[in-house]
Amino acid sequence: MSDQGSEKVRVIVRVRPFNAVEEKEGSKRCVTVNKARNEILVAGEGAEKKQFTFDGVYDEGSQQIDLYNEAVRPIVSSVLEGYNGTVFAYGQTGAGKTFTMEGKDSPKELRGITFNSFNHIFETIADYSVQKNFIATVTMVEIYNEEIRDLIGNSRNKLELKEEGKNGFVIKGANTPNVSSTKDLDRIINIGRSNRSVAATRMNETSSRSHCLILLQVESHEVGEDGEPRNVRSGKLNLVDLAGSERAKKTGATGDKLKEGALINQSLSTLGAVISALVQARTHVPYRNSKLTRLLQDSLGGNTKTVMVANISPADYNLDETISTLRYANRAK
Ligand code: ADP
Ligand code: MG
Repeated sequence: MSDQGSEKVRVIVRVRPFNAVEEKEGSKRCVTVNKARNEILVAGEGAEKKQFTFDGVYDEGSQQIDLYNEAVRPIVSSVLEGYNGTVFAYGQTGAGKTFTMEGKDSPKELRGITFNSFNHIFETIADYSVQKNFIATVTMVEIYNEEIRDLIGNSRNKLELKEEGKNGFVIKGANTPNVSSTKDLDRIINIGRSNRSVAATRMNETSSRSHCLILLQVESHEVGEDGEPRNVRSGKLNLVDLAGSERAKKTGATGDKLKEGALINQSLSTLGAVISALVQARTHVPYRNSKLTRLLQDSLGGNTKTVMVANISPADYNLDETISTLRYANRAK
């Protein structure tokens, strides 16, 4: 593994707490977190013990803000300096992806990566605004069955990707409103969230079957004495709540559901292959094999930073999915 690659792609694991049903049914713990050694130990009944090492590990007592400060803050700081950065939440449905990305609105301590990133960005902008001008725009889309849908506005148009230069692809025709404060952005994201669940209900699917992406573009420039912009910087932050990673066979899917599952598996495995190619500094990176990686091509590799948060359950009835998540995450690092 190249040092450069591993520095730019970080993989961390977060274990969620037992839920009420698991508590009630007396589920057994099969996951141990060793924070000092960045290790996760998995030991189920009758199963072999397995140990994994990551760039960071978080147990069920971990605080949202600690995870933000340790794993995400450096990415957002570099976005403000004009680089692209991406945060992925990976894991089976119910493992804590949305809790990690969105969290809860209140109390404030439960707010997730999205809110903490917005806050960080707009606080920095407020500090700088004397010398610099900022423009921030947001796009929010979901990818379902390899189709991209706009989540902002009320059109929910299907969107296409357009190839643009060496930087890969841009989304054609998406709503990209300007945003000037955390509150502003929060309001727009909430519209996106409700559009997402309306669409999911109409299509008789659950949002766990689609990838949800928030793309925040931040541009800044200073104004020279001649009135012309200088030191123009443009960075993009991608916040991605991935589709559930559980395998279709477990849910007994057939027909359309099976096809849907196959497409999800394909896009998640393409993402894994892309990240692993980047970490190993391979020359061929298979961006083109899925919409997700095509869309994010300009933010994966090169001068960009990525963190993947692999979310897992502590309970032994999820052992198989937990091991498969840890293997995926291990391969990505
Ligand atoms: P996913 O998005 O992966 O399907 P969720 O984020 O919706 O999973 O999590 C499932 C449930 O567990 C939710 O009720 C969520 O609030 C709770 N949960 C997940 N992670 C945590 C955590 N770290 N601390 C407290 N509750 C959590
Ligand atoms: Mg979710």
